[in-house]
Amino acid sequence: MTEISGSLDEFRAAAEANGIHTVEVAAPDTQGHLRGKRVPVGRFFDSVHDGGVNIADAMFVFDMQNDLPDNEFVNMDTGYLDAHLVPDNSSGRMLTHRPGYGIVFADAFDENGNPHPLAPRSVLAAQIERCRAAGLDPVVATELEFYLCTPDWNPVQDHIQYSSLTDGLEFEACLADMRSALLGAGIEVEGSNAEYGPGQFEINAGPADAMTAADNTVLFKSIVKQVAVQHGLRATFMPKPWAEQSGSGMHVHTSLTADGANAFAACSDGEPNDLMKNWMGGLLEHAEAMTLLGTPNSNGPKRIRPYTFAPTHICWGLDNRTVLARCIAESGSKANRVEFRSAGADANPYLIIAGILAAGVDGIERKLDPGALSEGDVYGNPGDRTALPTDLEGAIAAYKDSSLATQLGDMFSRSYVSISEAEVPLAAENNPEADDVNDWERARFLEHS
Ligand code: GLU
Ligand code: MG
Repeated sequence: MTEISGSLDEFRAAAEANGIHTVEVAAPDTQGHLRGKRVPVGRFFDSVHDGGVNIADAMFVFDMQNDLPDNEFVNMDTGYLDAHLVPDNSSGRMLTHRPGYGIVFADAFDENGNPHPLAPRSVLAAQIERCRAAGLDPVVATELEFYLCTPDWNPVQDHIQYSSLTDGLEFEACLADMRSALLGAGIEVEGSNAEYGPGQFEINAGPADAMTAADNTVLFKSIVKQVAVQHGLRATFMPKPWAEQSGSGMHVHTSLTADGANAFAACSDGEPNDLMKNWMGGLLEHAEAMTLLGTPNSNGPKRIRPYTFAPTHICWGLDNRTVLARCIAESGSKANRVEFRSAGADANPYLIIAGILAAGVDGIERKLDPGALSEGDVYGNPGDRTALPTDLEGAIAAYKDSSLATQLGDMFSRSYVSISEAEVPLAAENNPEADDVNDWERARFLEHS
């Protein structure tokens, strides 16, 4: 499991040993983009490590293009206040793909000194606390797919060779640098492979505590994009860049630790224990509402289509890539976990993980039953399983006024919904086709997803 240095002294020692001149004080915005300030290393360890830095709270209401849709909490009348970013010094790492730079994640506070209600790290922290109050510590891993592109945003390949170790050797130097940079930043790399799309790749990161996993995921995306540029290429986490090719998902694996051990381990082969069933019961109960957290923009829902390996119906199963919640339950295995497969690669990891934790712990509190397991081809035989929303309006409708929205915080949810709602008329005007992905959409989402 990823362990990050843990203390300010260890971060300072690592900064000295690595000749760091600049520390990036970073916080994720609502789109999952890392923003912050670059601070000279001396100033960081003198004062910024506990004094923090300021940044405009506009970052929490930006759309993907940094436009500011109308927002009831952050607007001209409120004056676009400063949010105060205070480093979480236990999260400091080195950015070895940019020698001389280190990075530390920061929590955002509002003008009254309270955790900023719109900050993704605040939203996730509250749900981690909820799990811990129930005696359960969540362990999370995300699995991200992306397309490698030319500088003019075409895929670097025109053919698919899934997991080939022979094809695509011309990109291996770039992939190797990505793996090294991720390892350098303290992200455990399990492996990488060519995915089922032309120029599509996947790099798997190891599990970590929920906040570290979310930090790792936004840093992963930033590093993959930067290393691609260092190789004269581009990388995109746009969830469905080309209608006829595979989408890029962000699969989220969760398990729970109780008394130092995986609480899903004790089971019979293929038969999840009661705790795991209740956790999945919660995930399925809130799955429709959760869709918006996984597909916040107009492009993401276009990935939710039959026979794409993205899930279309609310169901669980064992080793089956057509289900929404894939459950790994082997007798005594500490690797037992639930893989939630509906989020696109543009999802904000803090928010989709917060949604999963809220849903799962609700399932445990209410002892929710996930129902019968699904076997075989769920696309062809969904039975009475409920379909997931396949467009942004449907995803918004399922989240708005939902119990999940309340659990994640009223102010956060209202702001979050309003950002997605502003996408609907834009998409209707510029690409009204439900299944088509056009140049307007690629111009809007390829570069910054
Ligand atoms: N690309 C698929 C998706 O959009 C997932 C393929 C896989 O199972 O890894 O979710
Ligand atoms: Mg994959």
